[in-house]
Amino acid sequence: MPNMCSTAENPPSPLPFQPNCLSIDLEVGLRSGRIQQLAAVRGDTGETVRFDRGDLAAALGHLDALADGCRFLIGHNFIHFDRPHLAAADPRLRLLALPVIDTLWLNPLAFPRHPYHHLVKHYQDGGLKRGQLNDPLLDAQLTLELFHDQYQALQQCQCATPELMLAWHWLTTFDQRLSGIHSFFTTLRRQLRPSDDEAQQAIARFLDGKGCRTQALQVTDDAAESHWSLAYALAWLSVAGGNSVLPPWVRHQFPGAGALIRRLRDLGCGQADCPWCSKHHDADKELQRWFGFAGFRPEPTGTDGRPLQQSIVEAALSGEHLLAILPTGTGKSLCYQIPALSRFEKTGALTVVISPLVALMADQVAGLRARGIDSCVAINGLLSTGSLHLRRAAGDRGDQRFRHGNRQTRCSPGDPRRHSRLTRKLSAGSRPRRP
Ligand SMILES: [Zn+2]
Repeated sequence: MPNMCSTAENPPSPLPFQPNCLSIDLEVGLRSGRIQQLAAVRGDTGETVRFDRGDLAAALGHLDALADGCRFLIGHNFIHFDRPHLAAADPRLRLLALPVIDTLWLNPLAFPRHPYHHLVKHYQDGGLKRGQLNDPLLDAQLTLELFHDQYQALQQCQCATPELMLAWHWLTTFDQRLSGIHSFFTTLRRQLRPSDDEAQQAIARFLDGKGCRTQALQVTDDAAESHWSLAYALAWLSVAGGNSVLPPWVRHQFPGAGALIRRLRDLGCGQADCPWCSKHHDADKELQRWFGFAGFRPEPTGTDGRPLQQSIVEAALSGEHLLAILPTGTGKSLCYQIPALSRFEKTGALTVVISPLVALMADQVAGLRARGIDSCVAINGLLSTGSLHLRRAAGDRGDQRFRHGNRQTRCSPGDPRRHSRLTRKLSAGSRPRRP
């Protein structure tokens, strides 16, 4: 067994990683839904099987024979893609009874921090980055390589944050019908699945200081209903404040994950003694934190006599729908910059800003970057297609270059008239002018 917690003085054991598993990958016809190619590789012996054309039934027989003696199967998106196709092709396959580890599902836990893992298109569908298309044997081998890296990353996680691993072990193993995850976490933690009390206490300790105290209590009480959604929410919270975003496939397949993050960090409980809400839902404190100003502009004021800037920021921070109209030169930019920065830090949300002023976009991006906030980008119709693609992709994945703050999208109504394909622009707010 490799040493669990390696240090510079105590390096990891050089034992080879040879899991007793079979890594499987299928290529399935889009229209026919039939298996066109398949390949598999044993993690312990390196034996392979490959089918490109011919007798599929015979190939499935060889696949089943290769799985004999394996403790589990692995695959990338195996649970929702490969396994159902194998079961449809031949429900009598013995390998269908084996536990499964899906490397797609494990990846956001093992690599929550951008730039994630080099083999995974984390910001798209979570698929493998292939060197070439339609090579299932290569994909099966890449999956084994990814599994090895996930194992090592979670070994380190066990040393650094054992509470998080305990919570994941409990949250991801409510349904053990297909899952080999329980054995995986048991091996990594060297402990059986934790009790409900142990898990809920660990979740409560992990959430302490990472979100609203009132919401954290309720989320912990309801944790037994949240399963993988809370596991992914905890993974994101472990790196919150940087550039990481929940992978799109997680948001789609586990919508509860994003909802839990918003509930914990973006829904103020309104209780004055809640440390998170009194700090992060206070417009004055957010103004001071992001821009260093002691207070909002005293003029213009609203009908209640309070500064309009402050009322607008407070309404936006609390998620209200609002229409704000201010005279030129009275600090409009700050009204959307503070909520955008605050919401990105709390939940990783993208803010879309629409403006007809192309020159102002560049000015505002430069202003924010001068403050060390470079998680912003401007897109307009004057950019080349290549630059546009790079900037949009960076905005989609929360690129490392855009750290410290918000990602805002700015759309100019003037540009689509000239370039109908260019309808979105990523930009950011400017350094606010002061009186
Ligand atoms: Zn609160």
